[in-house]
Amino acid sequence: MKKIPIIAGNWKMYKTIAEAKDFFSIFLPLIKESSAKILIAPPFTALFSCAEAVKGSPVLIGAQNISAYKEGAYTGEVSARMAKEAGAAFVLLGHSERRLHFHETGALLQKKLHEALAAGLIPILCVGETAEEREAGRSLEIVKKQLDEALSSEELKDLIIAYEPVWAIGTGKTATPQMAQEMHQNIRAHLREKMVKNCPILYGGSVKSDTLAALLKEDDIDGVLVGGASLDPKHFAAMALL
Ligand code: PEP
Repeated sequence: MKKIPIIAGNWKMYKTIAEAKDFFSIFLPLIKESSAKILIAPPFTALFSCAEAVKGSPVLIGAQNISAYKEGAYTGEVSARMAKEAGAAFVLLGHSERRLHFHETGALLQKKLHEALAAGLIPILCVGETAEEREAGRSLEIVKKQLDEALSSEELKDLIIAYEPVWAIGTGKTATPQMAQEMHQNIRAHLREKMVKNCPILYGGSVKSDTLAALLKEDDIDGVLVGGASLDPKHFAAMALL
């Protein structure tokens, strides 16, 4: 059976509302023949307008982060319920840039995961080791720890994992398909032990249209999470059509 891949884009802190509108005016006509599941996470400010722009198309819009709190006096925060109402179907959690620059911990991510599920958002939990950890032969240990810290025992049936080695994000260095496959297989086995079944596992880290096909050929790679290459509507459309 042919795999229906998940092609997810993370726009990070790029694109204003007007720029996002321009993106979709080029992107949507191009992906009409795509059979992939296409996901895009714009910044919060463009969430609502992007959700409106993709209505009637197969594209799902999501958030790049949510608060760990339901509501309250938390200046600058956006709750899961707010993101959902603005049109988000999913949320990225624990991206390495958030772990690094905003000091997100496993305990915090567990709370965010709970909030996401309670609001009906599909969490995409990002995990991955640094270059030093890989060199020290600790990649699997680190990834398992990140999974264990964030995943509590609650029902986790609508969950997606993104394996994103930190050394491959925004660096142009991609893990080889074999390296990614090996980690994905281990992640799947670990999730099975935690009774998490049928969980798609995405690979992320400098994926572009020319590296995508080889990654998707691997049994345990269900799709990709794409940063830089998702900003260009023609390039990202070419990935969704592969
Ligand atoms: C990302 O931000 O999740 C990512 C994988 O970025 P890039 O594709 O630019 O490495």
